[in-house]
Amino acid sequence: MLPRPTLKIAEVFASVQGEGLRQGEPTIFVRLSGCNRRCAFCDTKYAWTGGKDRTRDEVLAEVRRLRLDFPAPWVCLTGGEPLLQDISGLVRDLKKEGLKVQAETNGTVDRLLAVDWYTVSPKPPEYAVEPRFLKTARDVKLVVSRELSLDIVRRVRKKFPPGTPVFLQPESNRRRSAAKAMEILSAGLKEGLENLRVSAQLHKVLGIQ
Ligand code: SF4
Repeated sequence: MLPRPTLKIAEVFASVQGEGLRQGEPTIFVRLSGCNRRCAFCDTKYAWTGGKDRTRDEVLAEVRRLRLDFPAPWVCLTGGEPLLQDISGLVRDLKKEGLKVQAETNGTVDRLLAVDWYTVSPKPPEYAVEPRFLKTARDVKLVVSRELSLDIVRRVRKKFPPGTPVFLQPESNRRRSAAKAMEILSAGLKEGLENLRVSAQLHKVLGIQ
């Protein structure tokens, strides 16, 4: 018998979406292991490598178990970079369960998925984004790190349609990073950049997972 295909999974947990336009919505998170970036500010370095081999059925069973206590209508596939693995079958399974599915990606892996929501977070040094995501992203996040400049924000803002919000998200909610976010926001407003917003990571403010 052929071995059953598995996904490398870092963790599965229930919480609220802490970032972006869906902030505050009850969500089950499936964090996939592996990433093609090595951002200095990454707060999920434990998901860069390793992970447990889980079949789709096992992931689905864990989502169902968590939903008994916390019947969240959304599942967020995150990482690491979740699109590095073939998660199309898992997305189909979750949709069959009647769940809404969000994928959080750095935008560098060109994989078409039947998700309800793409969150795209372009990363340094190039802040490159596959063309597929320019029209499909529902929201865009830029971590306000040492590397982020007004010039990069301008470039990213202009790539996406004006109706897609671009969030400036201070790195780990740090004070210095918040001040830089406000400076960039102010400069961006002065030159007419549309739909630019500042956000905080709600889960870190609340001290939850
Ligand atoms: S792309 Fe995301 S998960 Fe990967 S290293 Fe950067 S911040 Fe971490």
